[in-house]
Amino acid sequence: MAMAKKAEIIGAGPVGLAIAIALSRIGWSVRVHESAQFLRPSGGGLYIQSQGIQALNALGLCDEFESIAWRPPFFETRVDGVRSTHEANTGLFRTMLRQDLHDLLVKAARQHGVVIATGSHADHVNAEGVVTLADGRRSEADLVVAADGVGSQAFRDLKIEQSRERFSEGLIRVLARRSSLREPQWDGAIDFWRYDKRPLRVLYTPCTADYCYLALMAPVSDADAMQLPVNVDLWSASFPEFEPVLNQAENATRFDRYGRITLSQWSKGRVAIVGDAAHAMPSSRGQGANVGLGNAIALASHIEASSDLDRALQRWEQAQRPAVEVIQDEAVRLVRSRALDRGRPEQEPHFVPGATLQQF
Ligand SMILES: Cc1cc2nc3c(=O)[nH]c(=O)nc-3n(C[C@H](O)[C@H](O)[C@H](O)COP(=O)(O)OP(=O)(O)OC[C@H]3O[C@@H](n4cnc5c(N)ncnc54)[C@H](O)[C@@H]3O)c2cc1C
Repeated sequence: MAMAKKAEIIGAGPVGLAIAIALSRIGWSVRVHESAQFLRPSGGGLYIQSQGIQALNALGLCDEFESIAWRPPFFETRVDGVRSTHEANTGLFRTMLRQDLHDLLVKAARQHGVVIATGSHADHVNAEGVVTLADGRRSEADLVVAADGVGSQAFRDLKIEQSRERFSEGLIRVLARRSSLREPQWDGAIDFWRYDKRPLRVLYTPCTADYCYLALMAPVSDADAMQLPVNVDLWSASFPEFEPVLNQAENATRFDRYGRITLSQWSKGRVAIVGDAAHAMPSSRGQGANVGLGNAIALASHIEASSDLDRALQRWEQAQRPAVEVIQDEAVRLVRSRALDRGRPEQEPHFVPGATLQQF
């Protein structure tokens, strides 16, 4: 019997875990290296839309996924306290706790025989498929996948060009119990925009019956609004409905700034780069993980379809890149056109997760 091909994956985020499962399902021997000591994602909740749902189906995780997913019955937009849109969620999107999705992927990966090494930081990769770990150990593989997120250095090791754009908005993610937000009106996702006091936005997302996540957004120049721990008085002045939730959640926060990463190529030799490491985008469309999951599945399919790795990687990029770039462009367009520091836009900020590109 032929020896199983070996893959080393860098990063146990959603994309690294998805590619690990997909490769193990086609007979590869897979190990994932995760820098963190614990398999715990940060960032609260997540919108999963059609591409993500399809990817999870392709991994055979449809039922498990539906059991952790929340289906917000609607997505609503309110501008300065006035409801401007209210759209039923006809199954276009689900929400969930990042931790629940992560646990599901970790469990599935282990069931497929994937080895996940925590506290295992990859320092360097080369095009021959050698990964050097922080403790000096080296390991050689038929394929290395860098799925190590926005801080990935693989492009540098491989001498691939990276361009990186940053935008004027910052975002604090808060995970909290829905203790004061239990009524059915809080079962849907609500996007609150305020321009009257100072430009601020809160995207309220229920993730389970018990938990919600708030994305607090402001221009990065508004240091008081973007300070950690959250300035509860400042946010409650504009959004009094969230005061109890914010008071509880003061320490469970994380700050991010909108950004985009583009690489001149997604692979070199035996190394592929995927997920945020290759094509990060602003979270304005809630698509980064969805696109990453879809692209991971596509990578595994191209590898399965061709015995020549070089050709598989070329075909993967040719097939996937145009669609990924369209979604990145749309995310960037949206973040620019609705930038809070530009003041109230002429058109109401209107976007429903799961909508196709033509729909908004
Ligand atoms: C505020 C915000 C909201 C978002 N909301 C959504 C949403 O609703 N829907 C959606 O689809 N997307 C959303 N996204 C985007 C989504 O979070 C990312 O696209 C997704 O997490 C990317 O997954 P990844 O696996 O590529 O990278 P990551 O999730 O960043 O995982 C990378 C992993 O690699 C590890 N790592 C890093 N370096 C090394 C190393 N050298 N060695 C070993 N391990 C390493 C890290 O510890 C981490 O565990 C949002 C992003 C932000 C910032």
